Parts: sequence; C-alpha cells; structure tokens
Amino acid sequence: TEELLRNTEKLLLIGELAAGVAHEIRNPLASLRGFVQLMSEDKSSKHSLYYGIMLEELDRINFIVTELLMLGKPQADHYKMKRPETLVEDVTSLFGSEALLHNVQIFTEFEEDLPLVRCEETQIKQVFLNVLKNAVEAMSEGGNVVIKVFVQEQTKLVFRFIDQGHGISKEMLGKLGEPFYTTKDKGTGLGLLVSFKIIKYHHGSVKIDSVVNVGTTFDVILPISF
Ligand code: ADP
Ligand code: MG
Repeated sequence: TEELLRNTEKLLLIGELAAGVAHEIRNPLASLRGFVQLMSEDKSSKHSLYYGIMLEELDRINFIVTELLMLGKPQADHYKMKRPETLVEDVTSLFGSEALLHNVQIFTEFEEDLPLVRCEETQIKQVFLNVLKNAVEAMSEGGNVVIKVFVQEQTKLVFRFIDQGHGISKEMLGKLGEPFYTTKDKGTGLGLLVSFKIIKYHHGSVKIDSVVNVGTTFDVILPISF
C-alpha cells in the first residue's frame, strides 16, 4: 500500500485542479437548485415530477462536488495537536445511528495514555468517516466494526478499522484510490482518493489487509508529530 500512496501522488495535481473547478461549480449549482426548488413548489405544474428528479440529480452533483473540494491543499495553519480519542468519537457519534440502520455496531478500543496527534481536524475526520462508511457499506448483513487506536514504533499512531464485510480481492486492491473506481451503484469512487491525499499531506500511510467474505482491516497510520 506504499504503492497505493505513490500512485496517488500522480493524482495530486489533477486533484488540485478538480478542487478548483468544484469550487467554481458550487455557487451556480446552489442558485440553480434554488430556482428548481421554487418551481417544484408550484404543484399545479405538469412538470412537477421532473422537478423532483432534477432536485435529486442536483443533490448528487453537489455531493460529488463536495467530495472533490476536499482534494484542495489543507492549509498549514490549520494543523493542531488533537486527542485521537476525540477525533474518533466525534466521527462515531456522527455516523453511529446511520450504521445502526444498517445493523452495524461500532466499538472503539483506545490504548491508554495515547499521545496527541498533529492534524487538520476536519480533514482527518473526513478520512475516518470515509473509511467507516466503506466498512459499513461492505457489511450488507450487518455486524461489528471495531476501531482500535494504538501507538506503533513509538512514533506512529495507528487508527485500525476492522470490519466483517465482503472484503477486497487482490486485483481490486490495486485499484483502490483510482478516481471514480467504485463497485457500488451509488458510489462515487472518490472517498479513498480524497482520503489517501489527506493522509499523504499528513505524512501518514495506509495499510489494508483483506480476506474476501471475511472482512477488511484498514489502518490509517499518522506520525505523532511532523
Ligand atoms: P465509494 O465508496 O464511493 O465506492 P471509495 O473510494 O470510498 O468509493 O471506495 C472505492 C471502492 O473500494 C469501493 O467501491 C469498494 O469496492 C472498495 N472498498 C473500500 N473499502 C472497503 C471495505 N472496507 N470493504 C470492502 N470493500 C471496500
Ligand atoms: Mg466510500
């Protein structure tokens, strides 16, 4: 998976461009949505069915554009020392009820006396959310996700996400993080691209172990300080 991160490097430049374009698209998109919303409120219109569809499609564009926006460079002055427990708990409390709807329970195990980690809080939370969402989405039958946080080699903090999902085959593993690579009907194939990029800016790495039909262990590894 060092390889995964290196491949991502090539995409960083494209990512910057995509984020720039995404930013430009956001405002006109919002005004477009506003007017369609207004039109859709006129129930007498024979087009009201189309307006509903247009709103759904506009929301989908907005979702994709929002993911692309994360490809922009994080700002250096936004890096702060944060408690790893808080980062994880903020994400699990945000996503916990959504997970329960999929019959997935999330458990956390924190090693004692964890050090603070230097990070851009919103971006790292975005990574955890992406990884956690993928874990839940891989478990169509439900199950447990365990998140373990511990220190490795005294200098690194490991955020380990263990799921009981359908797993990732060897050949699919190499495609992870390619833009728009998805195996889901409603997927964007942007979550991991964005996540790998954020991890790279944090001088971190990822490690993925997966067994098909058993589950996936996804490590987000961050240096304690850099
Ligand atoms: P998306 O979630 O929109 O499909 P991602 O970039 O987040 O895009 O993930 C890309 C693909 O990687 C997914 O479609 C899925 O096939 C695979 N994947 C990622 N995480 C997992 C996981 N924990 N278990 C199984 N497959 C996964
Ligand atoms: Mg995803």
